[in-house]
Amino acid sequence: MDKKRIAILGSTGSVGTQALDVAAGHPDRLHVECLAAGRNVDLLAEQAERWQPSVVSVGTEQDAAELRRRLEPGGTRVVWGAEGLREISLHSNVDTVLNAVVGAAGLAVTYDAVTAGKQVALANKESLVMAGELIMAAARRHEADVLPVDSEPNALHQCLRGEHISNVRRLILTASGGPFRTWPQERLAEVTPEEALNHPTWLMGQRITIDSATLMNKGFEIIEAYWLFGVPLEAIEVVVHPQSAVHSLVEFSDGSLVAQVGPTDMRIPIQYALSYPERWKSVVEYLQVPASSPWDFEPSGGDRFVALDLARQALRAGGTAPAVLNAADEVAVAAFLERELRFDQITSVVADVLEEVPTTSADSIESILEADAAARRAAQARVVK
Ligand code: MG
Repeated sequence: MDKKRIAILGSTGSVGTQALDVAAGHPDRLHVECLAAGRNVDLLAEQAERWQPSVVSVGTEQDAAELRRRLEPGGTRVVWGAEGLREISLHSNVDTVLNAVVGAAGLAVTYDAVTAGKQVALANKESLVMAGELIMAAARRHEADVLPVDSEPNALHQCLRGEHISNVRRLILTASGGPFRTWPQERLAEVTPEEALNHPTWLMGQRITIDSATLMNKGFEIIEAYWLFGVPLEAIEVVVHPQSAVHSLVEFSDGSLVAQVGPTDMRIPIQYALSYPERWKSVVEYLQVPASSPWDFEPSGGDRFVALDLARQALRAGGTAPAVLNAADEVAVAAFLERELRFDQITSVVADVLEEVPTTSADSIESILEADAAARRAAQARVVK
């Protein structure tokens, strides 16, 4: 059996390490061809020794030199920076690129990989939030599959397999509601970074955990779903489902609702995106059905869900507005983690920046990155006193 040759970009992060768990569980199916990480040279060196990839990339030239010292000469090639990521994204031996790069740096990776016709397992949110139109157009042109790793869009992808999108009435994204779902509105001003980082159901990186608490993460998923599946914005809804067992649902025109249900473990959607179009044995424990707890659903809407409104507003404005939304949020979340901004001010900073920064056409990666930079400056001016 031919093995699928994969590149894992962001290999030392939460998604990257879990992807390597999946690879370890399927040595007969997956071959780790390339790895890339930002700054964690220690873990990357360990991973390179274990997996013997042909190429690894690291953030800086200095770290690349350090990595070369640690690895056996004549084995793995070490590259670095944006060029390093680019080399791996385009690597002729790679079938599937798992893009788990953190932040806007991941955008170019996705674009390069789809234009090279690779299958892309997409964990980098910025790619579709900032440049959804551009990337999906390139993916269609080059017949590249874009497979969402994010559990809710991943669930929608599973529910939609073999279906005609014209038969879809609604895409229903589930949201855990975050750790403050039951808190009174006025207490949100006092939320500390420690409280916000304590997500009730999912174990994830810092920014996405804060974005889950503000619901901005769900706003981003509305944007991801919009570009991935090509339905009207009005057909995408969010319901609160605190147990995170039902990862999302699709309602079809004939009245059938199809849901994807599974353990709250990222290795499930990661493996789905790596194995697609096949399905392989799970590397995690199977969910017991009926589950021991009930499954609750509540509507979303009102003050607590202002982040969803901001995401919809950005998508309606079109062009670079979603990129502005993302950049403003990233700056605001970082300021909150540094205790320079209150929790309830994160979305108000984003709303202000969305008003202030003009929307332009998102017709190139460059124009999107310019809007990103303008939004960062505008957000920074609001958080630094
Ligand atoms: Mg998600």
